Amino acid sequence: MKLLEVKNLIKHFPVKNHKGQVVHAVDDVSFHINEGETLGLVGESGCGKSTCARTIIRIYDPTGGEIIFDGQNLATLSQRELKPIRKNMQMIFQDPYTSLNGRMTVRDIIAEPLIAHKIGNSQKERHEMVAQMLKQVGLNTEHGTRYAHEFSGGQRQRIGIARALILKPKLVICDEPISALDVSIQAQIINLLTEFQQKEKLTYLFIAHDLSVVEYISDHVGVMYLGKLVELSESKELYKNPLHPYTQGLLASIPALDIHAGKITDKAEMSGDLPSPISLPSGCRFCGRCPYAKKICAEAEPPMKEAAPGHMVACYLYS
Ligand code: SF4
Repeated sequence: MKLLEVKNLIKHFPVKNHKGQVVHAVDDVSFHINEGETLGLVGESGCGKSTCARTIIRIYDPTGGEIIFDGQNLATLSQRELKPIRKNMQMIFQDPYTSLNGRMTVRDIIAEPLIAHKIGNSQKERHEMVAQMLKQVGLNTEHGTRYAHEFSGGQRQRIGIARALILKPKLVICDEPISALDVSIQAQIINLLTEFQQKEKLTYLFIAHDLSVVEYISDHVGVMYLGKLVELSESKELYKNPLHPYTQGLLASIPALDIHAGKITDKAEMSGDLPSPISLPSGCRFCGRCPYAKKICAEAEPPMKEAAPGHMVACYLYS
């Protein structure tokens, strides 16, 4: 059953001092995630994947499109109407160094969402819930009395996970939760998230620029380029049969994390830079970097089409 369905989502930001110009951060993106599954959303930094996540959770208001979560279109709700729904949608942030309040104890950081959503009848009850949560993320009760700066990056991310999961949300948006961590710690955090998913039947939207991490954790993978979803498929199929030239380039260029061995292997860099999301190229947005570009590619944007069962791609090579 679909828990989240994003339909034609658009998020544009006006450019300061340039009337009429906008940053096309997210342009007509559609996908869904079934309950208990993970969709990995990947692409280079600046491709719009984090903006997409922040728009889904309504940190940003969408410019257009629908965000159907648990049967309700979040795009049309006010912030007041969203408040009770937020309990079921939590976010784990990229940087465990800046996302935790340094002036609060770890226990208070984790208890904060419980207070905001009026969960627990007393402080004692909330502290018990926090102690239980600390244990589940691999920390202990004593850690709750300390401050975030006393912990390593991996431990801080465990605190961030505890804060997000204490509300028992249905959907967790993981915004590059491991990219600021050492490789050996990355594998531990991924394993922790996977364990929680199996135990609590969580649904994840997992954002990363590292395709190898997404392969391990995702049921489906979407690849974004310059605000557009250019390929969407079951995870196994995408890695076996990447169709879009950008996906092929990403697979060839992203260093591979061996989740079991905790080591990284370097690969070749993809050539060219991401064009400006303000002055978009005409036609296919990948045209300037694509080794297979043909005349039509510069003339009109390729539509998303099903190239194989359940395997969608936006590229003229397949239409
Ligand atoms: Fe390359 Fe053309 Fe496909 Fe774009 S549409 S990825 S330019 S072949």
